[in-house]
Amino acid sequence: MKHSCTLPLIYSPHYSIPWDKKHRFPMAKYRLLHELLHERGLAHQRNTLIPSPCTQDQLYRAHDPGYVDRFMAGELSPTELRDIGFAWSPALVLRSTTAVGGSIATARVALKRKLACHLAGGTHHAFHDGGRGFCVFNDLAVTALALLEEDKLNQVLILDLDVHQGDGTASILQHEPRAFTCSLHGADNYPFEKQQSDLDVALPNQMQDDDYLSELQRVLQLLERKLKPDILLYDGGSDVHADDRLGRLSLSDVGIRRRDRMVFHWARRLNIPVAAYIGGGYDHDHQRLAKRHALLIETAAQTIQAD
Ligand SMILES: [Zn+2]
Repeated sequence: MKHSCTLPLIYSPHYSIPWDKKHRFPMAKYRLLHELLHERGLAHQRNTLIPSPCTQDQLYRAHDPGYVDRFMAGELSPTELRDIGFAWSPALVLRSTTAVGGSIATARVALKRKLACHLAGGTHHAFHDGGRGFCVFNDLAVTALALLEEDKLNQVLILDLDVHQGDGTASILQHEPRAFTCSLHGADNYPFEKQQSDLDVALPNQMQDDDYLSELQRVLQLLERKLKPDILLYDGGSDVHADDRLGRLSLSDVGIRRRDRMVFHWARRLNIPVAAYIGGGYDHDHQRLAKRHALLIETAAQTIQAD
């Protein structure tokens, strides 16, 4: 297994920046996830691409240029920073732009290789005019618009299985018919004011594996009848897990593996390339959290090996 994994991974050492340990956001999880995958032989130099920051023009397609410029210059107001939940620093700028660059790069690798995973991404609460809920820029929306405008794709599907609704993504892309947004999320969880995705499925608290997976099956069947996307951007948030600190669903490790396998196999059968993003996940124990995010990568690696 060692060094034989061919699953393309996208990761930058800039993702985990120096951080106040008492802060609610688990900033170390990106580095810990990469280390864990390295130990397990799933991440090595040959399968890991280090991305460059995205350009400001790419951000301007999804975000108000004034917001982008003020963030870059460290000129956001205290209210805007409070909405994001992070303190500003030059390292945060590099991290935020590199993570979006990484999400775009993941999609482009996926177009060539059928499946690629970003060890970050899924910052789906960022809106056109500003960041929210630990999300500075909406990487999914920026990536979708880059693929449509620069790569001339006809249709992009965003399937958001993070426990929280992809509200920013839905809002930014609401008038873009070439990007289809689909979100399965906890009905009673943040964001409490939901936006309208092209397809929303709100789930009751404490839903467990089998009920969740039958909902997902139904959604995938519906999407299959409706769309012929050129790519799937998949937010495989681990905060659907029963032990997640902020999620209110009750999936097990096995349930998350079955969820991801269902998505990957569905896309493979329909010949749709998949760019997968780790999305949200919250646990005071950051090692345990890294293991939970690794489930997505392990399932992706198994899918590639089975080809
Ligand atoms: Zn989330």
